[in-house]
Amino acid sequence: MKLDKYTVTSGEKFKLKEHDPGDTGDYRSKAEAVRAMADNIERMKVLQDKLYAQNEYALLIIIQAMDAAGKDGLIEHVMSGVNPQGCQVVSFKQPTSEDLDHDYLWRIAKNLPERGRIGIFNRSHYEDVLVVRVHNLIEGSQMPDRLLDPSIWKQRFRQIRNFETYLFENGIIPIKLFLNVSKEEQRQRFLARIEDPAKNWKFSAGDVAERGHWNDYMDAFEDAIQHTATKEAPWHVIPADKKWYARLLASEIIVDTLENLHLEYPRLNEAELASLEECRTMLLNEKS
Ligand code: AMP
Ligand code: MG
Repeated sequence: MKLDKYTVTSGEKFKLKEHDPGDTGDYRSKAEAVRAMADNIERMKVLQDKLYAQNEYALLIIIQAMDAAGKDGLIEHVMSGVNPQGCQVVSFKQPTSEDLDHDYLWRIAKNLPERGRIGIFNRSHYEDVLVVRVHNLIEGSQMPDRLLDPSIWKQRFRQIRNFETYLFENGIIPIKLFLNVSKEEQRQRFLARIEDPAKNWKFSAGDVAERGHWNDYMDAFEDAIQHTATKEAPWHVIPADKKWYARLLASEIIVDTLENLHLEYPRLNEAELASLEECRTMLLNEKS
């Protein structure tokens, strides 16, 4: 599968308009995609086992999107085959007062995955250049007034680039997924949430108010991707109008990233092998 057209490693020329939320690549049907996805889930299982055993790298999957783009379903499906022991999902909501008493990366750093694990961020530090920017929440925050410079977003982009490069250089490998849903598809999904009682809980009136800021959000996403797509922490812009394609693509990107780490089960040294032999002999000679 060709992933290049969805991957942004340098954002200067990135234009969100050039990415079609309805794209399904070479796939024409859900059934085809579901088959390919099952295959990826199997591969991911093996790779995750090595990641865990080796206990050196960690994977940090960052998921950002507008409401109803399919973040939760994607996490559920893509990670369905992995061992829960080696995986952790963290959802970032409105910051608590304790969070707000710290710098914005504090709660992020606290929740980073341990080596050997796959960490999934359902929202992330990007909220601090998205919702915080669109609603100018920084004005009412505890940031000192004299640090509220108009260049604050550029500063944050730089801080985020540096932070993510730092993670990469320490073996915590970021994968950033932007689920690119269209405004019309979001409307349909909101309507479905209102009409289906089993989905009512997913809907809040605030979601419609946020939708009113659609263009501001798109500008904020575009600017964020332009300034934070790097070789170490690329952005993947995932067409999300067809959930089955978004999920397949995400699984493909995760498998591809894990494969590029050339993971191996730990090898025992001579002394450890000798000790294994000794244990084998003891077990074989045990009298019942
Ligand atoms: P949900 O993911 O639907 O449970 O909603 C979580 C809400 O928390 C979303 O509306 C986010 O925009 C909001 N949120 C997450 N992080 C921040 C943040 N740093 N500042 C303000 N709101 C945030
Ligand atoms: Mg919500």
